[in-house]
Amino acid sequence: MGTKVMIPLCSDFTDKRDTICIFGTGDFGRSLGSKLLQSGYSVIYGSRNPGDSSLLPRAAEVLSHAEAAEKCSVIIVAVQREHYGFLRELEDVLQGKILVDVSNNLKINQYPDSNAEYLAQIVPTATVVKAFNTVSVWALQSGSLDASQQVFVCSDDNKAKQQIMDIVRAVGLTPLDKGSLVAAKDIEDYPLQLFPMWRLPIYTCAGLTVAVFLYCVISDIIYNAEKKNDVSHHLMITIPNRIFPVVSLMLLGLCYLPGVFAAIIQLYRGTKYSRFPNWLDRWMLCRKQLGLVALSYAFLHAIYTLVIPIRYSVRYRSDMGIINLIKLNKTRILEKPLLWRSDTYLALGILGFFFYIVLGITSLPSVSNSVNWREFRFVQSKLGYLTLVLCTGHAMVFGWNRFLFLERYRWYMPPVYMISLVIPCIVLILKLILIIPCIDNKITKIRQGWERPSRGKSETKSKTYSVAL
Ligand code: NAP
Repeated sequence: MGTKVMIPLCSDFTDKRDTICIFGTGDFGRSLGSKLLQSGYSVIYGSRNPGDSSLLPRAAEVLSHAEAAEKCSVIIVAVQREHYGFLRELEDVLQGKILVDVSNNLKINQYPDSNAEYLAQIVPTATVVKAFNTVSVWALQSGSLDASQQVFVCSDDNKAKQQIMDIVRAVGLTPLDKGSLVAAKDIEDYPLQLFPMWRLPIYTCAGLTVAVFLYCVISDIIYNAEKKNDVSHHLMITIPNRIFPVVSLMLLGLCYLPGVFAAIIQLYRGTKYSRFPNWLDRWMLCRKQLGLVALSYAFLHAIYTLVIPIRYSVRYRSDMGIINLIKLNKTRILEKPLLWRSDTYLALGILGFFFYIVLGITSLPSVSNSVNWREFRFVQSKLGYLTLVLCTGHAMVFGWNRFLFLERYRWYMPPVYMISLVIPCIVLILKLILIIPCIDNKITKIRQGWERPSRGKSETKSKTYSVAL
């Protein structure tokens, strides 16, 4: 069949494209049919009720399945997998035709095989191509302007696949070659996934947020209530402004901790050719999302901090402080160490936040696609550690010598800023050890493929992991 590879610039075509058959006059079949007609194709529907065509585009013809299939070489099967049975009877007429499977399932792993492979099994005389399942009816009807335009295409027959990719292009969508029909299972799972890489970071963040919230409520509101001092208004700004920086710093530490663990494991095993534990694999894969969640909390901390001067309680305390000084006829002297401390703390916070944002921006696909691997590693690793150092310094200077005063340990609970320092300090100490030249050289050698002789032979070279520290 001689399909012309042409992207339509307007609906006025001088040369007509091929005729495409669509089995099924449901929502998807109707929407895709309209799109094909707009792109210059002729459309013939194959339906169980050819007489009922009131909802279909007027330019389309509606016939029985067998009659429609006879007139076209490409047949789009816009029918649910559960109803594929009727295709068995059409095996003869479908011989040598291209069947496009557009189906999705209701849940991941609903069937042992993919719908496309199932279709190929039902009609072995036809060539099956998986396509269009990632496009919704809404996207087709709204002109795909504000929806994903990617259409994953796979088939065991390259020629048929190219033909369908041309049709995808012609209707204004972007085909992505996913290889052979084996890939259909992944393609069918794709529209069913709900933020797979975000789940772990969001659960971790939610868990830490609840834990730090409870810790602050006990050590602040309940502790003060016990002393007949009602500070329940802290729930609005004071406590959130403790939770956000504390959780943000913990999450930033958690972004860099798996890289350090991976290096230690490789050093211990003396090879990079062995699998990391599953939990570490999963953790490493979601570091970008962990970092972005941490950035969002840092952002909230910055906004909450900006409103401190306009808070009524802060203004009241400041006014009362001045009035008391006047009443007692006292002057408050400018304490130089305090001056340095507060400026250093703020400067570290501002710089840390700035590099946090740089990290966030470079993780955007449009930016990360425009830098090379070395540049990306430089930003995510070197600048990432710099951000961790600055933010850890920010929390340390904020706490200063408070950890020395027993009255700060309410009910023996350390101030919450101290808890936020645990993970980043572990990461930074381990990293400092790992960059000692003799250890660093060993890790570099292992990452270049060197294996410790005694272990090298027995290890299975199952998988190579490149770790971005
Ligand atoms: P639908 O509205 O339920 O339409 C399916 C069509 O299949 C019916 O209109 C009917 O057409 C035909 N049909 C129903 N039972 C049949 C049977 N026993 N034997 C033969 N044909 C039968 O479904 P849809 O939303 O259009 O979806 C069609 C396919 O596209 C599905 O596989 C779905 O997973 C896939 N898909 C849908 C979307 C979406 O947004 N809806 C997105 C991507 C992929 P006739 O009455 O004309 O025979």
